[in-house]
Amino acid sequence: MSALHSITVLGSTGTIGVNTLDVVARHPERFRVVALTGNSQVERLLQQCRQFRPRYAVVLNPPEGAQLRDRLMQEGLDTKVLWGVEAMETVAALPEVDSVMAAIVGAAGLRPALAAARAGKRVMLANKEALVMAGRVFMDAVRQHHATLLPIDSEHNAIFQALPRDFGRDLAAAGIRRILLTASGGPFRAVPVSQLEHVTPSQACAHPNWVMGRKISVDSATMMNKGLEVIEAHWLFNAAADQIEVVIHPQSVIHSMVEYVDGSVLAQLGNPDMRTPIAYALGFPERIDAGVEALDLFRIGRLDFERPDPERFPCLQLAYQALRQGGTAPAILNAANEVAVAAFLDERIPFRAIPAMIDHVLQRVDARPVSELEDVLAADRLARQAASRWAAAG
Ligand code: NAD
Ligand code: MG
Repeated sequence: MSALHSITVLGSTGTIGVNTLDVVARHPERFRVVALTGNSQVERLLQQCRQFRPRYAVVLNPPEGAQLRDRLMQEGLDTKVLWGVEAMETVAALPEVDSVMAAIVGAAGLRPALAAARAGKRVMLANKEALVMAGRVFMDAVRQHHATLLPIDSEHNAIFQALPRDFGRDLAAAGIRRILLTASGGPFRAVPVSQLEHVTPSQACAHPNWVMGRKISVDSATMMNKGLEVIEAHWLFNAAADQIEVVIHPQSVIHSMVEYVDGSVLAQLGNPDMRTPIAYALGFPERIDAGVEALDLFRIGRLDFERPDPERFPCLQLAYQALRQGGTAPAILNAANEVAVAAFLDERIPFRAIPAMIDHVLQRVDARPVSELEDVLAADRLARQAASRWAAAG
């Protein structure tokens, strides 16, 4: 690559954002950061602006925007501060930007990620919720605007690496029988089911293998994360629900697999460090140093596999159900899950109420066909209302 590759990092203050900037900082001759966005973490954004000197820094609300602008001015940095969702869309679609890391958490990340796709960018997608909610709209935008979609989720990145390079979104034509999506099983894989009633947010966020934001950590504990990833895989690889099998693999060394009709199973292995998939996407199609330690198979010793227990992980079944139902059902599932996880993190509902709330909302809110973004956003609103009512009613 001769010219510098310009990137926008949406959600730069989060776990994926910080890991992205860690990889970027290892290759100053390759990458230039044009824009950074965060929700409200002014200090961290300021520190990132000092280090990467972006043209733009974006926050969600005006008070943090004003705070950040003043601090940047005091330090004589000429980063322009913007705020609001539209500003996040703007910096995702700037003509000078080549690639966009979409790493905002939850439904809030949909619009900016979609703006990047519509601007024909190379979209490095960590924000799985965008695909779960609006898979059809998102994939249509990618195709129509000739965007390049590179999955950051470690499983989907692994699958992408194990697919033929010329994969044309047709599993049968590529000789593929199934996708095997690995899951760690999270912190509660072996806890007696009867004890799950009493687990706390900090226990749920203590993942055995990965360091992640709080929302996705709870999703990993319920295995809704894997459910969302099944739906994500459906859209990314054009795979039917029956062609995606979840395999619990507690060591998190195999990040997922592709099973071919001749019996071959191709896997991607590595230490559980998100800098590997991030570096893969940043350098694609070249391989670049990610700062990740080499995999030590002798230290790991063994790889185990288990079938997920539906009684322990009802969220996984709910996600499959929403995928099979189609239309806005996955958007309803996602919205109910976001409300339920937030309520659990605030200690307003117990852990086991998360699937109960989602199940209730899926039954209450009718799924509709999706023809445009507004269909998805309407379903998201209705599901949030139904979920909040359920939580309030106790
Ligand atoms: P995080 O909570 O650490 O970071 C979230 C980022 O989004 C932060 O920069 C935050 O400021 C920003 N943000 C939050 N709410 C916002 C809002 N309303 N508007 C604008 N910005 C907002 O989360 P994370 O662990 O980095 O995860 C980010 C995304 O990547 C999620 O969709 C997650 O599912 C996905 N992902 C994460 C991992 C991981 O290992 N952390 C792995 C795979 C996929
Ligand atoms: Mg994942």
